[in-house]
Amino acid sequence: MERSSVPDPQSPDYKTLLESTQAIPWKIDWSSMRFAYVGPQIEPLLGWTAESWVSVEDWATRIHPEDRERVVNFCVAQSKAGVDHEADYRALTRDGGYVWIRDVVHVLRNEAGEVDALIGFMFDISERKKTEEALISLQKQLEEMSFKDGLTNVANRRMFDAILEQEWSSAQRNRQPISVILVDIDYFKQYNDQYGHIQGDECLKQVAAALGGAATRAKDFFARFGGEEFVFILPDTEAAAANKIAERCRDAIFKLQLPHAGSSVSQILTISMGAGTVIPLRDDLPMDFVARVDRRLYRAKQYGRNRIAAAD
Ligand code: GH3
Ligand code: MG
Ligand code: MG
Repeated sequence: MERSSVPDPQSPDYKTLLESTQAIPWKIDWSSMRFAYVGPQIEPLLGWTAESWVSVEDWATRIHPEDRERVVNFCVAQSKAGVDHEADYRALTRDGGYVWIRDVVHVLRNEAGEVDALIGFMFDISERKKTEEALISLQKQLEEMSFKDGLTNVANRRMFDAILEQEWSSAQRNRQPISVILVDIDYFKQYNDQYGHIQGDECLKQVAAALGGAATRAKDFFARFGGEEFVFILPDTEAAAANKIAERCRDAIFKLQLPHAGSSVSQILTISMGAGTVIPLRDDLPMDFVARVDRRLYRAKQYGRNRIAAAD
C-alpha cells in the first residue's frame, strides 16, 4: 500500500467512524503548521470548537504552562525526525480547567520521504491519571505508615533498626563515636491502672513529642522503641554530649508536669535512661551495643528510677 493512500478523513464513511470514537482525531499540515482537521468530539471534552483549532500555536497555548515546554519540544523534535510518538499533558478547557490528554502521533511522509503531515488521536486519560495519583499518594502513605509509629507519629522500631544499621557502619568506617540513649517511662503500668489506657496513650504522645525535641542535630534520630520505651541514635556524639541530651530529656519530661499518682518515685511522670557511647570496631554488632545500653537502663531502674545510667 502506498503511503499516499491513507484514507481521506473527509470521505463520508471514514468521517462517521472517526467522529464516533472516544478518541479525538486530528491532522496537522506540516508545511503550514495548521490544523487540516480536528474531530468535533473536541468540543464536549475541552469546550473549544473544532473550528477554533487553527494552527499549532492554538494547540501549544492550550497546554498547561508546566507541561508546555516539555511537550512542544518533544513533539517538534520527534516530528522533525519523522518518529511516531505520544505525549501526556494537561489540556486547557474553555472554562479554565485542565484535562489530562494522551496525544498519540503518527508522522506522514511524502514520496520524497519528507514530513508531510502529522495525524493523531487525543485520548482523555484523566480517569487513569486520577487513579495513578491516588495510587501514588496511597503508596506514600503506606511507606510512611511502615516507618512511622501510628500512635506517637515518631519513627518506629523498623526505622530504628534501619537507621542504626546505617549509622553503625558509618561510625565503623569513619572511626567515629556513636551514642544511644534508651528511655523508659517509670511505673507506666501503674499510670494505665490509675488513669486508663486512653489517657496512657495520650501520655505517650506527649512524652514522644517532648523527648523528640531534645536532640537537635541533623543526624540525630529518635524513635519509639516499643511500648513506653523510646530511643535516640546520636551519630558522631561523645559520651558527654549524649549525657547532656539525656539530661535535656529529663528536663523536658519534668516540664510536662504530668500527674502520676501511682508512681512510687514522684507525684509526676518520670523517666529512666540508659546511655552508651562506642567507637565500633570492625566486627562489633550494633545489637550487642544496644543490649549493653539496655542493661544500663535496667540498672537505672534498680537504683531508684528517675535517673540516667551512663557507665557500668
Ligand atoms: P518500670 O518503671 O519498671 O518501667 O515500670 P513499668 O510499669 O513502666 O514497666 P513495664 O515495662 O512492666 O510496663 C510497661 C507498661 O506500658 C505496660 C503496658 O501496659 C504499657 N504500655 C505499653 N505500650 C502501651 C501503649 O501503647 N499504650 C498504653 N496506654 N500503654 C502501653
Ligand atoms: Mg518498659
Ligand atoms: Mg516502664
